[in-house]
Amino acid sequence: MRVHLVCILLIIGLVPLYVGMQVMKNRHWKMAYENRLNEMEEQGAGLADKVAQSGYLQQQFQQEVAAGLQAYAELISGRIVLLNQGLVVVKDTSGRQEGKTMISREPIYAMKGEKQIYYNDETGMAEVVMPIVVGAHAESDGQIIGVIILEGSLSDVIESQKAFQGSIAIVCSCMAMILLVIALVVAGGMTKSLRTLSGRIEEVTESYDGTQVIDSGSYYEVEQITDAFKRLMERVEATEKSRQEFVSNVSHELKTPLTAIKVLSDSLILEPDVPIEMYREFITDINGEIDREAKIVNDLLSLVKLDKTSGELHIEEININNLLETIMKRLKPLALKRGIEMVFESYRSVLAEVDEVKLSLVFSNLIENAIKYNRDGGKVMVSLNADHRFFYVKIEDTGIGIPEEEQALVFDRFYRVDKARSRETGGTGLGLSITKSAVQMHRGSIKVQSIPGVGSIFTVRIPLSFVMTVQEGGRR
Ligand code: ADP
Repeated sequence: MRVHLVCILLIIGLVPLYVGMQVMKNRHWKMAYENRLNEMEEQGAGLADKVAQSGYLQQQFQQEVAAGLQAYAELISGRIVLLNQGLVVVKDTSGRQEGKTMISREPIYAMKGEKQIYYNDETGMAEVVMPIVVGAHAESDGQIIGVIILEGSLSDVIESQKAFQGSIAIVCSCMAMILLVIALVVAGGMTKSLRTLSGRIEEVTESYDGTQVIDSGSYYEVEQITDAFKRLMERVEATEKSRQEFVSNVSHELKTPLTAIKVLSDSLILEPDVPIEMYREFITDINGEIDREAKIVNDLLSLVKLDKTSGELHIEEININNLLETIMKRLKPLALKRGIEMVFESYRSVLAEVDEVKLSLVFSNLIENAIKYNRDGGKVMVSLNADHRFFYVKIEDTGIGIPEEEQALVFDRFYRVDKARSRETGGTGLGLSITKSAVQMHRGSIKVQSIPGVGSIFTVRIPLSFVMTVQEGGRR
């Protein structure tokens, strides 16, 4: 990340620097080059006037004009050529082409009155080609009697451009170095908090005891990561705590029937002459404890299975009225034993997409509890209703009720309000936590209202369409 940041910062800094350097180089060259051409043009115009006035082209040799031409040719490190109307070279300060006829595009255009100023790539010289005019102030009015060609070397301009580029390169290198240092410092500062944080996370991950403080650093984003990590560690801690509690509860619950079996069997073994009735009684008790142990193991397996297969629901369209009626029919003998009346009230026929097996477990547990924790001769009322999104099942009893402060706890694993009573009725304290898991798997909710001594109402709300609910949940 640091390398990336340095690269990005360098690019951000270097690109404008490079562009600026190119612009400055071009402007410098243009200014120097144009100045030279303007100067040559001015001088050329002056010399052309002198030549025209002196009659130099008409063989009226003038020492002063010749000296002027020579001097300026030397100054521009080039040459000056004069052509007459027939494009014959009357004067060439370099002496190379005197007497020759020069037929090329530029002098021909100049004879037509067109001035030309350009840079000749072949010779590497700046050239000014202009007409020599007599008899008028303006070129267009007078008569063109010849052409003057000024060829000037640009070597000094090129040299000065090179020197300028050299200085610019030095300045740019210095600025690039400064930029690199700034980029390193800034990137270092930005990544320091992250590096510190990752170091602390590693330390904490190795030995987290819930007390370590993680320094959040100075950047807002780093602070957010720190907070998220803290929350994650808190969750891990909570999960670990609940796992430990669960293991200790399971051990305790499984040990209780085993201890009872051990005590019963020991007393049978240690007693030399045990009467057959006592044998029978003790063996019956031992059998009861084994049943209890088996029930706890079965409930634990259902719970683990619900945890493991969360997401693996076998969703089908089920008639909830039929489902509830079947469960109630199955549990009716249990209620009848204690003279408890069972009533089913359905406000409408409900078809819903649910996992039949898991939902049967939910309603069986709740209705069985309503019978188990009821008074003799009491009543259990089950009602079913629905709106356009959910169906609601209410299980109401006239039993012992649950104290308010314990109502939220009854869904915890192994939680029992009255241990002795629950044990009497064969309860394991796992039924409601299995129920809650299954309801949550259906994206539903369960709540309890209860008044001790009056009764309890468990209300379950389940979406009618599981698929739609999952899609909505995914979109949210
Ligand atoms: P158990 O196997 O002990 O019935 P549950 O998880 O089903 O375990 O219930 C947990 C505890 O909640 C029970 O031990 C009981 O104290 C209380 N409880 C559950 N349902 C009712 C009810 N309908 N009326 C009163 N108490 C209830």
